[in-house]
Amino acid sequence: MNILESAILEYGEAIDDQVIKVDAFINQQVDPVLMDQFAEAIVAHFKQHKITKVLTIEASGIAPALLCALKLKVPMVFLKKQKPSTLKDVYSAEVFSFTKQKNYTLMLDQQYLNESDQVLFVDDFLANGAACKGAIAIIQQAHAKLSGIAILIEKSFQDGRALLEEQGYEVYSLARIQKLEKGNITFLTGK
Ligand code: 5GP
Repeated sequence: MNILESAILEYGEAIDDQVIKVDAFINQQVDPVLMDQFAEAIVAHFKQHKITKVLTIEASGIAPALLCALKLKVPMVFLKKQKPSTLKDVYSAEVFSFTKQKNYTLMLDQQYLNESDQVLFVDDFLANGAACKGAIAIIQQAHAKLSGIAILIEKSFQDGRALLEEQGYEVYSLARIQKLEKGNITFLTGK
């Protein structure tokens, strides 16, 4: 069992058979020491790639993405979910939110991603892959290249990984959940 799996068992809570709450160390309170270790593992995994930007989505992706970017010594860029008045020329993509069950728009100022970028996308969760698909659409609009996708917690009983792998993307998840039941969390073995 790795450190993320141990932390999930200690501090996480299966709300039902679909959703897990990890507010205690990822989604509201952030444990910087654990997050640093997660980033270390992600960066080690993608060390052969010449990453030029780490991309994520506000808000919960920012902590792991920033620590990855710090270790790689490249900028971290986060996609916004609301358009500030200062944002003019944007790339955008519609996403269906798994947790909120409604659509939102991802936005990025065009100046922060371009065709010379090799992108590592980092996010807290992978469920059905909608957030990743939105990020990929923006990477494509910018003509940048996606080197890989790093996820803290993958719910492997949902379709996200299969959808992304079918499109030829590498998905590296630190914890893969096979099954959730209220009060019980089972990990995929041999990942
Ligand atoms: P997807 O777009 O892959 O369906 O869902 C991923 C996004 O939904 C993540 O960025 C995360 O914000 C949210 N999410 C999906 N499943 C869960 C979950 O079980 N717990 C929490 N806290 N967030 C989730």
